[in-house]
Amino acid sequence: MTSTENNNNGSDETQTTKLHFEDADESMFDGDDNNADVADDITSADYYFDSYSHFGIHEEMLKDVVRTKSYQDVIYKNKFLIKDKIVLDVGAGTGILSLFCAKAGAAHVYAVECSQMADTAKEIVKSNGFSDVITVLKGKIEEIELPIPKVDVIISEWMGYFLLYENMLDTVLYARNKWLVDGGIVLPDKASLYVTAIEDAHYKDDKVEFWDDVYGFDMSCIKRRAITEPLVDTVDGNQIVTDSKLLKTMDISKMAAGDASFTAPFKLVAQRNDHIHALVAYFDVSFTMCHKKMGFSTGPKSRATHWKQTVLYLEDVLTICEGETITGSMTIAQNKKNPRDVDIKLSYSLNGQHCNISRTHFYKMR
Ligand code: SAH
Repeated sequence: MTSTENNNNGSDETQTTKLHFEDADESMFDGDDNNADVADDITSADYYFDSYSHFGIHEEMLKDVVRTKSYQDVIYKNKFLIKDKIVLDVGAGTGILSLFCAKAGAAHVYAVECSQMADTAKEIVKSNGFSDVITVLKGKIEEIELPIPKVDVIISEWMGYFLLYENMLDTVLYARNKWLVDGGIVLPDKASLYVTAIEDAHYKDDKVEFWDDVYGFDMSCIKRRAITEPLVDTVDGNQIVTDSKLLKTMDISKMAAGDASFTAPFKLVAQRNDHIHALVAYFDVSFTMCHKKMGFSTGPKSRATHWKQTVLYLEDVLTICEGETITGSMTIAQNKKNPRDVDIKLSYSLNGQHCNISRTHFYKMR
């Protein structure tokens, strides 16, 4: 999934295609219901509260080939997981994962989608001839009724920026607890969060130090806020100064909702002499039930995805020598007021030749 928020610094805004009236077929505007679009009644107010109703966000996700092709490969190359099974697609969007499953021979797929896109998914399912196999249900997983007591497979693309932003994982766990048959499978079933450290003088200047002098005025009060908001952006592999460490692996088939809040220690070893401006977090997901383990990574050394990476700027610049270590811990928790936001506490220390520093920073993904 991708962000429903408008304010994710550094992330590309969804591009929408403009329809030029002079190019449009007149029949699109006449009252003939054959051409009436199910989305015709949606206004910008609806999009503001529910951007998943707009096709643009789905276009971005579908065009993320790393993401979509991984799910397709998992399903098509491991048909034994899906064939003759009852599947629940949690947050179906356009219905793409349901269509993959139907094509792989699922006995039936329940595609649950809470946004207006559910109506479009119904249309897509119908026009592709899968209405007998796929039932699209419009509503929240937490509120809908399924016409059957249990499902064999739960599939979902629930991952947010920094893995946990938007907190759709809770929805998948809710569905698993309520409907997954004993011995059923969850796709994907593993998600891991990693951390590494980067040199990023140029961009830190642009995003953080910028506020010190804006056309001759001191706006550094915004700087303090800017530094507490992790930045979703693409990190170049060459910027990486240390090794990467695993913070946490979550087993979606077994974990409890509370397990998504945790504290994890880390120890990063510098691979060269450099200056460190930020820590970077990224995740991978895997489908361990496949014949061969499959999955994808959103790390800076892998092919780019729409999740990019998440950059947490440090107040200080760390002058680090090859072989020196940054030790620390990261605490990740759902924000109490808004469970879709993520609170991050980062403690770190470097006891090096040129730098002796120990600090704690707080960040908020919102
Ligand atoms: N499965 C699609 C869409 C993934 S994006 C694809 O892979 O392309 C996640 C989708 O989940 C969004 O369309 C969002 O509207 C939907 N969603 C989020 N929370 C939900 C909930 N609680 N119940 C039902 N749908 C939900």
